[in-house]
Parts: sequence; C-alpha cells; structure tokens
Amino acid sequence: MNTFESAVMARLGKDIPDDVIVVNTCAVTGEAERQCRQTIRKLKRENPKATVVVVGCAAQLNPEKYASMPEVDRVLGNHEKLNKEILASAQKKMVGDIEQPLDLPIVSDFEGRNRAFLQIQQGCDHQCTFCVVRFARGHNKGLPVDQVIEQAKAFAQAGFQEIVLTGADVASYPHGLVEITKCILDEVPAIKRLRYGSLDPAALKDDFVSLVKNYPQVMPHFHLSIQAGDNLILKRMGRRHSREDVIELTQKLRAVRSEVVFGADFITGFPTETQEQFENTKKLVEEAGLTHLHVFPYSERPGTPAAKMSQVPMQERRARAADLRSLGDKMYAMLLKKMLGQNVSVLVENDGMGWTENYLHVILSKNYVPGKIVDVTVKGIKDHALVG
Ligand code: SF4
Repeated sequence: MNTFESAVMARLGKDIPDDVIVVNTCAVTGEAERQCRQTIRKLKRENPKATVVVVGCAAQLNPEKYASMPEVDRVLGNHEKLNKEILASAQKKMVGDIEQPLDLPIVSDFEGRNRAFLQIQQGCDHQCTFCVVRFARGHNKGLPVDQVIEQAKAFAQAGFQEIVLTGADVASYPHGLVEITKCILDEVPAIKRLRYGSLDPAALKDDFVSLVKNYPQVMPHFHLSIQAGDNLILKRMGRRHSREDVIELTQKLRAVRSEVVFGADFITGFPTETQEQFENTKKLVEEAGLTHLHVFPYSERPGTPAAKMSQVPMQERRARAADLRSLGDKMYAMLLKKMLGQNVSVLVENDGMGWTENYLHVILSKNYVPGKIVDVTVKGIKDHALVG
C-alpha cells in the first residue's frame, strides 16, 4: 500500500526540486516508528541542505512528534501527501480529514519492479483491539470500479503482467473483492497474474472459493491476517474469525486448487496470552499448513484497548516470535522440497530471480527479460530459494 502511494507521490512530485526528501512512514508497530525516525535522522545527516517532508501514518497519528524533530521541515497527513499542490507547497504542517473519498491519479511505473501494486481500498471499519490503522486511515473506502479498471489497463499498457490488489482491509473492498477481480481479469486480459495483499479470513466466503476455482489468473498464494491460533485470544483481539474458520477456509481453497499455499500474519505475546494459548497458534500453523509467516511480537500502540490490558513481558513476546518463525522456516523448507523436479511458471525480476505462482523465490540459471513469465524446471534449493 505504501509502495503504491510512494509511486503516486513520485509521479505527482516529478517537478519538485531534487533537494526535497519525502519519508513515507508506517505506524503499525513501535519498531516501525523507531525505524522511521532513525531513517529521518540519517537522511538529514547525509543531506544537510535537503528539505525533509514526513508523511504517512506516523505523521497522521502524531504530527507534533515529527514536526518537533529538528531534522524535519514539513509534515503531511495521509490525504495531503497524495495532493499535488500540497506536496509541492511550503506548508509546514497539513494533517487533515482522512475520511475523504479515495481518488488516486493513474500511475504506470514502479521503479525497478516488475509487479504492480494497485491500491483499490483504504481505511477500515473493524476495531481490532491492537490496531491503529483505522485511526490513521479512517473508515473503509474504495476506489471506484472504473478507476480501478483504468489503472489496471495503464499497468498492462506499461507491460506489467502481474498486479497485486492492496489496501488496509482489501477483502472489504466496498464494491466486492470477487466482483472487482472478475472485472479486471475479464476486461484486461493482458494481466496474466493477480495477487492480493493481506486478506481478512473472516471476509472470504464461498464466492471467493469459486473465483479461485474458475480464474487460474488468481495466483495460488493467499496471505491471511490470522494474528493468533487461540480462540480466546482472537476474541480479545476483536478478530472476527476462529481457528476452525481458518482451517475450513484453507481446506475449501485447497479442494478447488490443490497447489494453493498460505501465508499469514501473526502477533505473539498479545496481552494475557499464556504459553498454552501460544501453543495453539503453533498447532494452527501445522493444521492449516501455513508456510509464509510474517511474525511480530505484540507492540503496544497508543490509544488502543489492548495497550491497557495485562501485558506479556517483551522478552517473552520476542521468544515466542522466534519460536514461531523457526516453525515457519520448517514449513517453508518442506514446501521448497516438495517443489523439486516440478515445472513452474516464473515472473522474472531484475536480479536473475523470479517468483513462482505460489510465491516462492527462484534463482534462474539463465538470463531472461525482466517482467516476462517463463517456464522452468526446479533443479535444486539454495538460500531458501528454488533453483530453476
Ligand atoms: S482489520 Fe486490520 S486494519 Fe482493520 S482494525 Fe483490524 S487489524 Fe486494523
């Protein structure tokens, strides 16, 4: 989502002088914010004459904190950063209403990338107890269908064969995730591969399963925002799915496309989580056969209900994260082994690497044109990647 918005800002700001540096921030965890501030200081140190403009969620949530940094010259909110005039203006601080309708200019270039991100949705109507996204992005809003199709056509025109539909809660796209996917693939046949950002498992119903069955362009890799594998912890998180729902969803999708694989977001050490409840998360990874894990130790976010709950010590949160990551590595390694000898279709990236349909990295033993889709046979495994 931020990658897409940065591409939009790059396009809007193409006439802005080179000595302006825009830092597009994230506030999903304390660590993310720490890295933003570290980056701001480093950039100013390396470019003392540059004008530093801080934008994005961290700026939207706490403009004073960034405006008071000596390295920072301007602070813009999530809506203002996508406005050409405001981006180019000298306004010191503009952080306004995030409930404005989603209206984005067409972009056609992602520096150095061969997959295009398409932000179709923004904001969120849910109230997960650990999350600040909805404070930074507002309520659920969607890009109008005709604008989505126009953007997809522009990407196809620019030579992209793979797009990733993204948003804060993309599965809740107001005009229907299944409907917009069919629209794009039916109206823009040059798009051969379509993926999604993180998907809320509670929002994926039988029509999504039929879509996956009938549209081979929908890539067989789904990243689910599961967060935990224990039902009481899921309840305390304010999530709308149970561990049984996740197992049922993964079984239904595998029943229509046996090659489907799943990634998942997990938070370890959520307030009140016991070791036993954490073990339920590990069991879910195995029961649902999850292979691409993104694991974060719980991070208190200001103003969220979970920050007021009884906290698990940080050391314990980190230990559980390490434990879960190593389980994820094992599951991923087993999947790599299973791919040996198979013929796979690979989207070629710039560095002699590429991506399979089920989102595995491939080291290509021949030079291919970046952006092309090529068929190779998996001959080996090296550095957590396939050799094709
Ligand atoms: S669904 Fe996602 S964006 Fe929405 S409140 Fe929950 S974690 Fe935050």
